[in-house]
Amino acid sequence: MAAYSVTEHYYDVVVVGAGGAGLRACVGLAQKGLKTACLTKVFPTRSHTVAAQGGISAALGNMGEDDWRWHMYDTVKGADWLGDQDAIEYMCREGIPAIIELEHYGVPFSRTEGGKIYQRAFGGMTTRFGEGTAQRTCAAADRTGHAILHALYQQSLKHKAEFFIEYFVLDLIMDDEGACVGVVAWCLDDGSLHVFRAHQTVLATGGYGRAYFSCTSAHTCTGDGNAMVLRAGFPLQDMEFVQFHPTGIYGAGVLITEGVRGEGGYLVNAKGERFMERYAPHAKDLASRDVVSRSMTVEIREGRGCGEHKDHIFLHLDHLDPKIIAERLPGITESAKIFAGVDVTREPVPVLPTVHYNMGGIPTNYHGEAIAPTKDNSDAILRGVMAAGEAACVSVHGANRLGSNSLLDLVVFGRAVANRAAEIVEAGASHRSTPKVSLDKALARLDHFRHAKGRLPTAQIRLNMQKVMQNNCAVFRTGAVLEEGRKLIEDVRQSMSEIGVSDRSLIWNSDLLETLELDNLMAQAIVTVAAAVDRKESRGAHAREDFPDRDDKNWMKHSLTWIDDKGHVTMDYRPVHNYTMTNEVEYVAPKARVY
Ligand SMILES: Cc1cc2nc3c(=O)[nH]c(=O)nc-3n(C[C@H](O)[C@H](O)[C@H](O)COP(=O)(O)OP(=O)(O)OC[C@H]3O[C@@H](n4cnc5c(N)ncnc54)[C@H](O)[C@@H]3O)c2cc1C
Repeated sequence: MAAYSVTEHYYDVVVVGAGGAGLRACVGLAQKGLKTACLTKVFPTRSHTVAAQGGISAALGNMGEDDWRWHMYDTVKGADWLGDQDAIEYMCREGIPAIIELEHYGVPFSRTEGGKIYQRAFGGMTTRFGEGTAQRTCAAADRTGHAILHALYQQSLKHKAEFFIEYFVLDLIMDDEGACVGVVAWCLDDGSLHVFRAHQTVLATGGYGRAYFSCTSAHTCTGDGNAMVLRAGFPLQDMEFVQFHPTGIYGAGVLITEGVRGEGGYLVNAKGERFMERYAPHAKDLASRDVVSRSMTVEIREGRGCGEHKDHIFLHLDHLDPKIIAERLPGITESAKIFAGVDVTREPVPVLPTVHYNMGGIPTNYHGEAIAPTKDNSDAILRGVMAAGEAACVSVHGANRLGSNSLLDLVVFGRAVANRAAEIVEAGASHRSTPKVSLDKALARLDHFRHAKGRLPTAQIRLNMQKVMQNNCAVFRTGAVLEEGRKLIEDVRQSMSEIGVSDRSLIWNSDLLETLELDNLMAQAIVTVAAAVDRKESRGAHAREDFPDRDDKNWMKHSLTWIDDKGHVTMDYRPVHNYTMTNEVEYVAPKARVY
């Protein structure tokens, strides 16, 4: 192995990721006087959160009656009873002050005529425990993520969080007692290597949508933090639950926000039928995402798809007032024009269910502390690691996330991480000496790929992986299709031994960077398929044609997946938290999930 020189840095807390979750954590940590470093592989305001369109939920009640308990009920039901109800209570309750904080931080929310934050309807969001439609999603036009990210970055700078931009974190550094003591990172700009020592390392590295061929997420969404946790020998949770968004633009995968249907848009099949009336008589086009995605897929499979190949669905908003479209949906108007050549005021947008969100990730409690379950304690803490945002599985989204609950998750749990870290980290406390062995492992991995001289380009292997995931682990699943997927993905994993990286340099070597990201994606693809094979029921986003019903008796439990160096997956389970955080709200008992 080449000799690498490494620069050491010392912080109270290191945050990996500058999306909504990472930045909200940074603001809170720095405000509380902790010396905080934020490492990010892209410029903070280019993080994937910038793409979030529709909005952020909270029961503010600005557009009609609302209550955080109704929001909690909707979230538990949306999650198909796989969410932890203590965490869901925490999120829905704390969502209200968290949004007011965002407003005070300077997020330019759209306004009602009376000057309050504008809120729109979103799928699965109801009043009075399912009776009416709630307008609960706070929006800054259709650029809410952009607005939040900019405000949080400014606040982080104001409170003196220190940024290390275009630093790619390679791995966690674990001590000999199994606790994390920081991270190893590669500075893309000058090729230097760095160790960041920290009492807590916050993983806010986002989802792994790029494991699939067609997804709405950015190229950077490779779930690096998830893979670091797996490499450190700890499990990921509920990885079989991958959300397909009903309205990705056909062919391009670019998202058309659910906010469009919230503003009155609707879906039709080739016969011009508003088919959602058949599948979800009450909520119709605003049923939850898994329900709408499955209904669209059934329409296409049964020959009622639109277009020459009968392989997509039309989304109409041409009946809406063009003034409303221009004011509230300017971004998607532009996307539809660029990616589908469609003028939304005159013609429908061709859409298709597209991979959008990962419910699974690093298990945490509602303080954001990572969990490393043991035989006797399913809630044991993984010392030194915290996680928030799409990388984490708190679990508030269970088997299916409701639209606009992710941005809420980022700010509520980013904030919770800061609050907890301030309780358990003493500002300025000294650091123990770095254990050499874990650093060697991370550098050996870098060195291995840097000098890989095989015949297969990274892009080819990545494409092979993405196609297997798209074909064998998608909206509808059967045991046979998933088993085939398991074999195929193992073949792709083995082909990593033939990978070739063209450039040996450490300065702006995008081939090496993408290879490391591919290695991260591969581990997550494998555990996703393994968990999907294992779960023999249908729940939320995991729809098994061979096990069409939800099975609460045997399967109301979180899956845990470990993977070793040879790609072998081990599985276990931990119980769903079927209890609330306080007595101010009742446990929502399981029942049939109809919309
Ligand atoms: C098109 C689209 C629209 C959406 N709209 C909405 C919406 O309206 N409402 C809603 O609630 N949700 C929405 N979502 C979901 C939501 O946007 C995401 O779940 C959320 O933004 C994820 O935020 P995050 O902070 O967890 O991660 P990200 O925003 O993805 O940020 C990840 C950060 O980690 C850093 N990082 C990753 N790996 C490394 C590494 N190895 N080293 C250093 N840094 C690293 C990246 O640089 C980045 O800063 C949408 C999703 C999509 C795809």
